[in-house]
Amino acid sequence: MVRRAARLGKRLALVVAGLVVFGVAVSALACWRTPPVVVGAMPDSSVRIDEVTRLHPVTMARVVTPRTIEDIVNAVKATAGPISIGGGRYSMGGQTATPDGTQLDMRQFHGVVALDTAAKTITVRSGTRWREVQEALDKVGLAVKIMQTYNTFTVGGALSVNAHGRYIGQGPLVRSVREVTLVLADGSVVVASPTLNPDLFYGAVGGYGALGVIALVTLDVAENTHVRRDDEKLPVSSYLDYFRKTVRDDSTVVFHNADIYPPAYENVHVVSYRKSTQPVTIPERMLPADQHAWSHRTAYEMITDWPKGKWMREHLIDPVIFRGNPVEWRNYEASYDVSELEPSSRSHDTFVLQEYFVPVDSIMAFMPRMRRVLQAHEVNAVNVSIRHALPDPGTYLAWAPNEVFAYVLYYKQRTDPESRREVARWTRELIDAAIASGGRYYLPYQPVATRAQFMAAYPRSAELFAVKQRVDSTGKFTNALWDLYRPSANGAMPAMTAQHLAANLPAEVRITLDSVKAYSRTEAREYLTHPEWDLVYGSEAYARWLEQGKRPSGFPYVKSVGTFWRSYGGTYDAAKDRYRVDMGTHVMLNVIGVSTAIEYGLKGLYENTLGRLTEWNMPAGGTAEDKYSAKVAREYATLIATKGWYEFGFMRAFKGLWSDVPLTGPGLLRKWERRFALSGEYLVKAAYASLIGLGTAAGYTPDELTRHVVAVGWSEPLDASIGGNAHFAKVRDLDRGYSLLSVGRYDPYRDALLALSDHADCVRIAEINGSELVTIAGTAPAEWRTPMRTSTVVAYRQPDDPARTRMLLRVQARDLLDVLRSLRAGGSFRVEHIYDY
Ligand SMILES: Cc1cc2nc3c(=O)[nH]c(=O)nc-3n(C[C@H](O)[C@H](O)[C@H](O)COP(=O)(O)OP(=O)(O)OC[C@H]3O[C@@H](n4cnc5c(N)ncnc54)[C@H](O)[C@@H]3O)c2cc1C
Repeated sequence: MVRRAARLGKRLALVVAGLVVFGVAVSALACWRTPPVVVGAMPDSSVRIDEVTRLHPVTMARVVTPRTIEDIVNAVKATAGPISIGGGRYSMGGQTATPDGTQLDMRQFHGVVALDTAAKTITVRSGTRWREVQEALDKVGLAVKIMQTYNTFTVGGALSVNAHGRYIGQGPLVRSVREVTLVLADGSVVVASPTLNPDLFYGAVGGYGALGVIALVTLDVAENTHVRRDDEKLPVSSYLDYFRKTVRDDSTVVFHNADIYPPAYENVHVVSYRKSTQPVTIPERMLPADQHAWSHRTAYEMITDWPKGKWMREHLIDPVIFRGNPVEWRNYEASYDVSELEPSSRSHDTFVLQEYFVPVDSIMAFMPRMRRVLQAHEVNAVNVSIRHALPDPGTYLAWAPNEVFAYVLYYKQRTDPESRREVARWTRELIDAAIASGGRYYLPYQPVATRAQFMAAYPRSAELFAVKQRVDSTGKFTNALWDLYRPSANGAMPAMTAQHLAANLPAEVRITLDSVKAYSRTEAREYLTHPEWDLVYGSEAYARWLEQGKRPSGFPYVKSVGTFWRSYGGTYDAAKDRYRVDMGTHVMLNVIGVSTAIEYGLKGLYENTLGRLTEWNMPAGGTAEDKYSAKVAREYATLIATKGWYEFGFMRAFKGLWSDVPLTGPGLLRKWERRFALSGEYLVKAAYASLIGLGTAAGYTPDELTRHVVAVGWSEPLDASIGGNAHFAKVRDLDRGYSLLSVGRYDPYRDALLALSDHADCVRIAEINGSELVTIAGTAPAEWRTPMRTSTVVAYRQPDDPARTRMLLRVQARDLLDVLRSLRAGGSFRVEHIYDY
């Protein structure tokens, strides 16, 4: 008995293995017979502006690259707005861009204008990077007085954030600025200093481009001396005492910082560089410009990815790196380039900075608060570096209104939307912790603070906005930061217009969305849903084929298998750049692919042998059984568009064949051949479906039947003006003119979006269920070209109609209505589906 069972099991396994080999062979043949198609694109003059983390891309209408002050003046006069100003583009939240605006890219406006060695001042064009300034100063024994740790940034960008470095006895960059030359919104050129136009001076420095373009900058500079490094490790609790006794008032200390080690945040590694008369042990005057190296990449990967990586950094790596007391040039120590931080890829995760400024005395109030947030959210920190700053002399957005410690958090985060939302949540907690400790947060980073937090941290921002109202009353100069935080002239926050949608959703909107049940969905599904849908399209094509009375032997079975694998390959290629695709998804898609190949392969074989033999006996339009199979194929195609294939009533189809279809009639041989072939197919599928259904029911939770859309500019009267049956329902009004809408899944979702696209001039979509990307499937003739701001994820000929190409298009949610409108206007692209996963 046992032996018979074992024999049976073995045979069954052989049959299954045989079928799988057959499925794989059909798949290989299918891929070869379904070549990819390249779809042309309409020319698109818009420009994507990225910043270093790649988390906040903004699409702008154009970029202007001035080389002279006259170029800046002409560009400002010629542009009604909005204009954003770009330096090195290292700020991390769209501070250099605004959607559909013009960016003045200042990087070609560079070079030293004057160097006065006696007065120790230098005048430079604002697009000059610190490295170029250092190269000029180094030749005459001078050095930059205050700058960031890295020399990659532009002087204009550094001034506009009022940067700081690791210097002791210094503080915000404004302390070393003598004067600036500004180009204002009307094109006028104005000089500003602490005594001349001081409101413009204190608004432009640290003003993130709000008042106008900083064109020329005159800075105080310092001597380039030898510096000698000392370091030690202490408990964080002793740091303030240590700093006061050995660093703060020691005029020989040039650089100092203290790195707190995660994940305990209990120990700090303090490093100071003091002026020295000893000969240099590192003869190079500056580090090389390109510092991208595998050793740095590996070190950062180790700290953030390896088990015990943080422990290894603290106990093994730092003790080796900080051996001895090297003596080097000041310019050498100030010549790090951000390329040393660049990871091999930023697609799945990226390194990001944040910074908090807290009064020196509040260190022991802030530290436990910060530690609690970082530990509770398991932030993957590289370190928190403490720096010191003396008070700011009067900028409106001063981050150091008094003597502060800066806490610079460098960490790694995932790039998918859900991870970004989680980062925004804990960042708001850290901002609260800084504010509760009497401190502020830094503005060049991800703009996730609420307006209340912004106002609490920057109480003098109203003065900056008043100056802006005076010199730029139309708000010509803006960027993602000011789109979010600058109130209109009456003090209220302006409603976002569709044309001026913020690149980042305001924090208030995000916080409300976080509280909406089942709002957030996984964006990766937008792509990896398409292969399954390809099977729906295949089933529809099959139903259509039979309905048209065509011979089943002529259906392109193999090519239909090919389109599945083509879809899988194309969508995986696109998805893997942005998301981690888990093994479960691969297993599922491979099982589906091989099963489909077996099914279509067997069907193709049968229809082209036995089935084909009886086709000579097939009356015009087919036998009753042929028609019945077309009807069942249509019902099946309709069902699988919204439900699992195993939910189809194959048993009912089998019974219907024998109860509803007459046993006699024209084409008797064909009739009975069909009857047996269809019976076999329905019975096998009924048995397989009940097995799959049992397995699926165990772990299945029914999906939500509605989807949520965040729109700006939408209103009920506008919705009422839209024809057709598909409409959105308002769930609630959100902050600043955004609305949360709901709509039924599948066809209603597609139809409501298509209808709304008639109003793309006044309505825009910000995101859909947390996804910023939307994918659209449809078909078009071969010569068709994708509209602007649309890219093709995958394209292949439609197997049953090779004159048309089926493709999956990818669009940013904010461009969706524009794109749908142009698809409709063009007329030749048939939208089959807008994915709503
Ligand atoms: C790896 C790394 C390390 C950092 N370390 C430090 C640090 O040690 N200390 C510190 O303070 N900051 C630090 N920062 C933040 C950095 O100082 C800011 O991001 C700075 O703005 C970068 O300069 P940028 O030239 O890239 O400016 P951008 O990012 O291009 O611009 C920043 C802002 O300045 C405005 N702007 C730029 N040029 C002009 C101009 N000519 N006129 C008017 N407005 C202009 C822009 O509109 C924008 O609002 C660091 C950032 C990174 C990525």
